[in-house]
Amino acid sequence: MKKTMVIDLDRCIGCFSCEMACKMENDVALGVYYNKVLTIGPMGVFPDIEQYHLPTICQQCYNPTCVDVCPTGASFKAADGTVMVNKELCIGCKYCMMACPYGARSYNAEQKVVEKCTLCAHLTAVGEKPACVKVCCAKCRFFGDIDDPNSEVSKVLKEAGEANIHSLPDRGNHPSVKYILHRKTATWQDIPPKETWRTSNQSGRKGDKQHG
Ligand code: SF4
Ligand code: SF4
Ligand code: SF4
Repeated sequence: MKKTMVIDLDRCIGCFSCEMACKMENDVALGVYYNKVLTIGPMGVFPDIEQYHLPTICQQCYNPTCVDVCPTGASFKAADGTVMVNKELCIGCKYCMMACPYGARSYNAEQKVVEKCTLCAHLTAVGEKPACVKVCCAKCRFFGDIDDPNSEVSKVLKEAGEANIHSLPDRGNHPSVKYILHRKTATWQDIPPKETWRTSNQSGRKGDKQHG
């Protein structure tokens, strides 16, 4: 079993609702994001201009380097494959933040612990969908077990076709989150993630970093 998320970039309109819903649901501090929506582009030459939006979350890696380096066992992989943080065991050493190739983790200065997207485990445990999935007005976010061929995520991926399924660059950690982008919408950019997740120079939202 591997719970993860599939995000259909063909449908994403970059409304940032998921970014806000995530912050509200998880009480995420000002300037910190578990789910930062980047805008990739514009690229190309007029009139052939391309652009798409890329929501960036913890990639729920199959081989999570954040878990490997954690000295206390605070970072761990749950039975359903979700990579979690046990805040009771976290000593705030930030090793996991350095080990994550995607900058998906944040330091909570108030609690002196590291945190990140949990796929809203507190909601899914009671049968609800993650907050970002529920709020997405374009219905482009899907949550489920990617190892189950009958799950919604597997069906959505099958329908998209292999050529239109993308991942963030694999640094040996094997990210499980999948993105759907058809060539007719835009060309998938193999962005260097760590440099782009925490800054907005790819986002086209210069001066708009601290809005939430
Ligand atoms: Fe760990 Fe980073 Fe992978 Fe998430 S994206 S599981 S924080 S290495
Ligand atoms: Fe945020 Fe929950 Fe969505 Fe993860 S699953 S990005 S924690 S709202
Ligand atoms: Fe894209 Fe959906 Fe997030 Fe809006 S809520 S930015 S459409 S993923």
